[in-house]
Amino acid sequence: SFISTRAQGVAAENGAVGFTTALLKGLAPDGGLFVPSSVPALPNGWSAAASLSEVATHALTAWLGHEFEQETIAGIAADALNFDTPVVHVADQLYVLELFHGPTLSFKDVGARTMARFMANALSGREEHVTILVATSGDTGSAVADGFAGQGNIDVVLLYPKGRVSEVQERQLIVERPNVRAFSVEGTFDDCQRMVKEAFADPRFERFNLSSANSINIGRLLPQMSYYLWAGIQLGEPALVCVPSGNLGNLTAGMLASDMGWTTNGFLAAHNANPFFPDVLAGHEERQRGTVQTASNAMDVGRPSNYERLRWLYGIETLQRRVAGSTTSDAETFETMRRVYEESGYVADPHTAVGIRAVEKHRAQSGYTGPALVLATAHPAKFPDALSEAGLPVQMAEALEVLREKPQRVQSIQPSLSDLLDRL
Ligand SMILES: *Cc1c(COP(=O)(O)O)cnc(C)c1O
Repeated sequence: SFISTRAQGVAAENGAVGFTTALLKGLAPDGGLFVPSSVPALPNGWSAAASLSEVATHALTAWLGHEFEQETIAGIAADALNFDTPVVHVADQLYVLELFHGPTLSFKDVGARTMARFMANALSGREEHVTILVATSGDTGSAVADGFAGQGNIDVVLLYPKGRVSEVQERQLIVERPNVRAFSVEGTFDDCQRMVKEAFADPRFERFNLSSANSINIGRLLPQMSYYLWAGIQLGEPALVCVPSGNLGNLTAGMLASDMGWTTNGFLAAHNANPFFPDVLAGHEERQRGTVQTASNAMDVGRPSNYERLRWLYGIETLQRRVAGSTTSDAETFETMRRVYEESGYVADPHTAVGIRAVEKHRAQSGYTGPALVLATAHPAKFPDALSEAGLPVQMAEALEVLREKPQRVQSIQPSLSDLLDRL
């Protein structure tokens, strides 16, 4: 079962909920995040799995087998995880786990697609309908829109700041999808986030049965364990696992996989110029700061939302023992992209490059010489400006090219709830 990070003692036990409730609610009623009250062990035979969806079935059945039939879980995994996440050898003892072969070309497809199918399954049993409301400045919106499109009993409403997302991102957001409506808001990303927050508290929106799909939802997190396990099978030996991080959902999933019994040589949290978590790991106080904009914009997070979960699950001292932190500037990111390309021909997107740089620094500091696995979180074709800044050739991706031909649907609105309500 799942309990709130903010409940204590008996209240925590009394507030324990099953996966379906945690999935549909998103946040605990006291404002905390849902965390597992215990972690199941990996089932025997998991390492004989022959695909991402097969290993996902093993892992998710260990977590959810008492709430969903194994057949249901296997069906959801096969439908959601119908793309591969290969381990690619880049240089001596350096591997990347490419998580960007899903429909919107970021690792967020894994969590969003799987979560959407669990939600649709749970809702069909209850004959309920929900509207997922998301504010997005980047990869989340397209992964959620794509993952939930066409799923029964679910509508999606996307808000993004007009003129403040890249051309590629916008194309991914506004392509016409069943049950999805995109709104370009005449304002900033903060305006969009404020509107979402207000809508959840506004009685005029009650009839929409609003729900969220951001990375604080445990339903997005659990499926992400699968690709760590699948990487472990592909690699065949333990590695240092480096996670390019923003809200720390991805790292949390990796650590839960390790709690289940997956062996690593430790974790490395690779952040850009937003150092909140590396600072905590270095023993500093938790310092709230403004968000710094960088070339790895999906990791531009001032205070990572999953930090509350990590601290609850492990405590600071254990985090310091199991995870090393690292920060990387934009200049270092571009330099890494260029050098890796020159030395190996591998084209890393800016987020992945932050991870590769973190490994290099960690090796220099710690003397670690064993294998390192960097999670490649996005396809480089999504970041033409960064590629050109780093002096790399333009990259193409079929999934982006086909969008040029597809019909688009978007409405422009003022940054006000009344305007949004009028359009819905
Ligand atoms: C969302 C995202 C991240 C950060 O992941 P978290 O789980 O928030 O730490 C890193 N890279 C890319 C490309 C992303 O879209």
